Amino acid sequence: MPDDKLHEECGVIGVYRDENDAAPLIYYGLYALQHRGQESAGIASNLNGAINPYKDLGLAGEVFRGDILSKLNGNIAIGHVRYSTAGEHDLRSAQPLTARCRLGDISLAHNGNLVNAESLKEILTDQGMIFQTTSDSEAILNLICQYGGAHSIEAGIKNAMHLMKGAYVLVITIGNKLIGVRDPYGLHPLCIGKLKDGWVLSSESCAFEALDAEFVRDVLPGEIIIIDENGLHNIEPSGWCKKNLCVFELVYFARPDSILDGVSVYDFRRTCGMLLASQNKIDADLVMAIPDSGIPAAIGYAEASGIPYGEGLIKNKYMGRTFIQPTQEMRENAVRIKLSVIRKNIEGRRVIVIDDSIVRGTTIKRIVKNLREAGAVEIHVCSASPAVKFPCYFGIDTPYRDRLIAVQKSQAEICEYIDADSLTYLSEENLLKACGGDLYCKACFDGNYPMEVPLSAKS
Ligand code: AMP
Repeated sequence: MPDDKLHEECGVIGVYRDENDAAPLIYYGLYALQHRGQESAGIASNLNGAINPYKDLGLAGEVFRGDILSKLNGNIAIGHVRYSTAGEHDLRSAQPLTARCRLGDISLAHNGNLVNAESLKEILTDQGMIFQTTSDSEAILNLICQYGGAHSIEAGIKNAMHLMKGAYVLVITIGNKLIGVRDPYGLHPLCIGKLKDGWVLSSESCAFEALDAEFVRDVLPGEIIIIDENGLHNIEPSGWCKKNLCVFELVYFARPDSILDGVSVYDFRRTCGMLLASQNKIDADLVMAIPDSGIPAAIGYAEASGIPYGEGLIKNKYMGRTFIQPTQEMRENAVRIKLSVIRKNIEGRRVIVIDDSIVRGTTIKRIVKNLREAGAVEIHVCSASPAVKFPCYFGIDTPYRDRLIAVQKSQAEICEYIDADSLTYLSEENLLKACGGDLYCKACFDGNYPMEVPLSAKS
């Protein structure tokens, strides 16, 4: 089976507190970040510098059964949920990754994707290092340990940051420290929360609600956050860092109750829906969403158009995300089981169906078919983001270019292929409006990658 996945999507979290029970908070946090990856979950706890990791394939609730958590002692812990790339469904690639370096035990959780991982691994291998996995994260851990030497983990991280190119959010624990790092482009989110007796670093602010933590701020692109018994301090980003948050985090990936770099994910999606409604006037009886990520946009569309919002599909809550199935065949079956039509709301009606994005076209094609079978008389499909035309090399799972439907077909051809009465994409101009500025990586829509992508990362 050819690998049609390029990269990883993950969620990371770290807790520093006074008491020796950081791991249970990580566990709750992983539940809140579960949407960021469902293949594996892991926690590494740090008790006075001795790190104890536990990870397995499965959801957080499946992995941490019985009394596992009670064995993960320590006032510092980090956690990770992972969606794997094809060929990497084994436990070795689950995180956090733990090792022993000259400074002691170290554990690292990584979200994102390096574009120069191959050359970094080559250099490290030439120096005699061996790798257990093909993941970028292991190269990052090795780099940090090597450059940290026997003296300073901070120096190790700073030096590694000079060498790493691509997207990385890191949560690390070593010695008495919890450390957070965001790459100089800030491609993926990381934010800081305050607990009554400590601190949290999390991919998304939605985890703070679960932990009763207060949102403090986002980690800046290129910034290093260090938390220890003296509190929180930082190493400022160097001058050239430039915010380029992945817009697909807002479009699809993040949870709607999160706020990323000051932008409410829910408001962003609702605004996209409103702007979509302003693009052309469609006569219809019902605006409906493909649950869940299409819902805020459909609500926005309904508000702006005056067409009532209603539910046309029910989502089976006990399944993971459709996309998070490693093969195309599994994905197609998954759509069928995951979403079923509320026939009564659809029959004899003209419906506008809103999804957050169309990638391969698998989901929408299947849904249009189901809605037709349920008796919809007109089906107008709207994507609350522009056509996905370019692969992502920075950690969002998009397929190779030739599997993107908007690369293969024109808009009219896609409309015909999915058997819709009309097809509208949010315009790039309106996407920019919804973001409120140009501080985003929108490469999947416009092909403007924030940095040069070496050929080795594309193959
Ligand atoms: P597709 O069926 O390939 O067109 O994928 C589009 C559907 O998958 C939409 O319903 C999105 O909500 C969802 N989706 C889009 N991008 C991703 C992604 N990177 N990972 C998982 N699901 C995604």
